[in-house]
Amino acid sequence: MTAPFRSLVKDYPRYLKSFELFLDRSSEHQCMQDFIHNTLPDILGSIGGGRSIFNVMGVGSGTGEIDLEMLAQLHMKHPQVKVNNEVVEPSTDMLHKYKVLASKTPNLDYINFSWNKMTASEFEKHWQERKLGKKMDFIHLIQMLYYVKDPETTVSFFRSLLDEDGKLLIIQVSGEGGWAKLIRTYRAALCNPEISQCVTMGDIKTFLDTKDIQYSNYVLQSHMDITECFTEGDEVGELLLDFLTEVVEFSKNAPEDLKKGVLDLLRHPDCSKEVDGRIMFNSSMEVVVVEP
Ligand code: SAH
Repeated sequence: MTAPFRSLVKDYPRYLKSFELFLDRSSEHQCMQDFIHNTLPDILGSIGGGRSIFNVMGVGSGTGEIDLEMLAQLHMKHPQVKVNNEVVEPSTDMLHKYKVLASKTPNLDYINFSWNKMTASEFEKHWQERKLGKKMDFIHLIQMLYYVKDPETTVSFFRSLLDEDGKLLIIQVSGEGGWAKLIRTYRAALCNPEISQCVTMGDIKTFLDTKDIQYSNYVLQSHMDITECFTEGDEVGELLLDFLTEVVEFSKNAPEDLKKGVLDLLRHPDCSKEVDGRIMFNSSMEVVVVEP
């Protein structure tokens, strides 16, 4: 069945608004930062083969906070190294915010930014046309594989760009968390078949295992306060519901039975728990660090 709704990601301004609200209401970026500070430095220590210039690439970088945090850790590990940083991001609004953040962040002289306002697949075409043959030391695909048509091809393409000691880092929702439950239950109604919206890290790991590709795996326990979703007509709740379902104006557009089903599931102990009167959704993620 084709999903009858408009995908949130096709409406970049509303996507940005609900994404920022999601960041505000969740421990998403905090969990990523903890990983970046505690675990990533050792991973970054092994890349680059002693060269003086590293090639880094962020795909679906959004507003850049996480990218800059990783670049700061890379700089601490390799203080003498210059970095060519390719940014691939199709949303004008997101890219603009990233550029503003980069311009305001001190001590980024070691980075040369290349801004690519395009999707991952447009970038793939662009890269092949340029025939640079350049190899990458570090590439990341963070919370973006939902928006490509074929995540396996996307992972394979970016992995093929890695240098022999390069690393590909992927973050995606956990195959065990609340999102996976929501997706599994309402795939036919919610998931846009033009993109791979419903893909979890469980699917990515199955693909890597099938191809015998080596990776390391980490779980990021995250949660999201969805209390307002249960107050009819609440603007915050509606934007959060859009983000959860990836549907533009879900509560206006969804039939009553689907709306009720989704709200009941979001509140179910499989997806959420109540803490001090707030409904906390399990938005756990997983990281894989893929070998070349
Ligand atoms: N990595 C960032 C942003 C995640 S949100 C972070 O974790 O903070 C997902 C991002 O993917 C958005 O910035 C969105 O604009 C971008 N995106 C959407 N479709 C894409 C596509 N086809 N290719 C690459 N990026 C895409």
